[in-house]
Amino acid sequence: MRIVLVGPPGAGKGTQATRLAETLHIPHISTGDLFRANISQQTELGKLAKSYMDAGNLVPDEVTIAMAKDRMEQPDAEGGFLLDGFPRNVSQAEALDELLETEDMKLDAVLDLEAPEDEVVKRIAGRRVCRNESAHVFHVTYSPPKKEGVCDVCGGELYQRDDDSEETVRKRLEVYHTQTEPIIDYYKSQGLVATIAATGPVEEVTRRALEALKRDK
Ligand SMILES: [Zn+2]
Repeated sequence: MRIVLVGPPGAGKGTQATRLAETLHIPHISTGDLFRANISQQTELGKLAKSYMDAGNLVPDEVTIAMAKDRMEQPDAEGGFLLDGFPRNVSQAEALDELLETEDMKLDAVLDLEAPEDEVVKRIAGRRVCRNESAHVFHVTYSPPKKEGVCDVCGGELYQRDDDSEETVRKRLEVYHTQTEPIIDYYKSQGLVATIAATGPVEEVTRRALEALKRDK
């Protein structure tokens, strides 16, 4: 199955991508991972991407697309893949279609995770991370530490990352609305979109997504 997962920051896209890819036995291809892998292996594309990032610029679509192409051609992606973070605008979606066409492939579904804006802001802005270990993550409402501001695991100080501030989240949502949301309409015209309510327990959201994929088949 070839799936694209779309959703605003804070909708739990990364978590759902991991869970769905595991259940469906297909690789989870995220742009974040692609960038990290290409940069750490110092591939030509990685070096190119890094030169843009170091200069404080966005990595051009062509570079992202080329990385995604390389990854989709790996043997483990033969039976399908789940794309997370790509495409993130209409021109990338068009490029992906062209790419798939040259390989005689088609997307099977586009899962659109939907969550109310206030909910995603609350989810992200409430995150607190341990200064000692970034894997120690808490949430002021959903998983508060036993003692406010102190990590349950190691006693380290908890803080809010700059990326998680309400102001930054609102900005990221704005970018999502203007850049990424139009791809939903693009894929709707191809009859590929299944809208999934991304609220409630993680397991429940996964179940809804799997149901939608079954219906599509
Ligand atoms: Zn800690």
